[in-house]
Amino acid sequence: MSSRRRKPDWLKMRPPSGRRFTEIKSTLRDHDLHTVCEEANCPNLGECWSGRDGPGTATFMLMGDRCSRGCNFCDVETGGMEPLDPDEPANVAEAVTEIGLEYVVLTSVDRDDLADGGSRHFAETIREIKRRDPETLVEVLIPDFGGDPDAVDRIVDAGPDVIAHNIETVERLQWPVRDRRATYEQTLDVLERVDRESDVHTKTSVMLGLGEYDHEVYRTLRDLRNVGVDIVTLGQYLQPSRSHLDVFEYVHPDAFDTWKSVAETELGFLYCASGPMVRSSYKAGEFFVEALVR
Ligand code: SF4
Ligand code: SF4
Repeated sequence: MSSRRRKPDWLKMRPPSGRRFTEIKSTLRDHDLHTVCEEANCPNLGECWSGRDGPGTATFMLMGDRCSRGCNFCDVETGGMEPLDPDEPANVAEAVTEIGLEYVVLTSVDRDDLADGGSRHFAETIREIKRRDPETLVEVLIPDFGGDPDAVDRIVDAGPDVIAHNIETVERLQWPVRDRRATYEQTLDVLERVDRESDVHTKTSVMLGLGEYDHEVYRTLRDLRNVGVDIVTLGQYLQPSRSHLDVFEYVHPDAFDTWKSVAETELGFLYCASGPMVRSSYKAGEFFVEALVR
């Protein structure tokens, strides 16, 4: 089921190109905005931005490019936090309109240095996008806000269509994979609160290939369903640099297919995007719209 040595062929992707790609890139530069898609050199960029089979998706990174936490799988720099840019919410919303994106993902670094964890700024960005076009679907991938329920409620009240918070890995591997301040229980609590307080769809992601056992993946999926999570994505962990956690194994695409079937058929998730190159926001617009009409 898995290969533990060289990077296998199924992880090689073609670089993005084409008119749509160039247009989006130039609008982003005009607004001095950054996307996770570009910063993380995401291999799905061509597919997500083009939206060939449905609404295209792009993921905007809010509140700077430095994080107050340091997860061992993530390439974002830790510390040296900058003040928030008060124009960012309007700027992002303008770019979304200009690009004509129908499905937007907003995410952010963790801002434990701010009293509200940045939740007001996040909420403001959602409102700005919806104010310009209420039909634009907005997915937010939020931090845990240190477990502050008011911060989570603030996001819910801003009216996004999907609220995601990533559990990242199975309980046993939370540390060393995530920063010590992020815990399995806290993530489940955030997701449960969103489900309890609203009708918004909830979503999470799990990386495979970090040394987890199948029974641990199954238990994680079951725990997520038990707190009402609707959507899950499963993807291969790839090491951003040599100073990050090693890949334990390259999980075979067939295993990803099996997990998709378990998640959707046995556990009842609304949908599960599962594959070696799948990331939290992979073709999120297309999958979301497809799931709603099923
Ligand atoms: Fe990266 Fe998020 Fe961890 Fe910060 S909290 S280091 S952005 S994964
Ligand atoms: Fe961007 Fe997410 Fe798609 Fe990667 S998977 S290109 S980060 S929307």
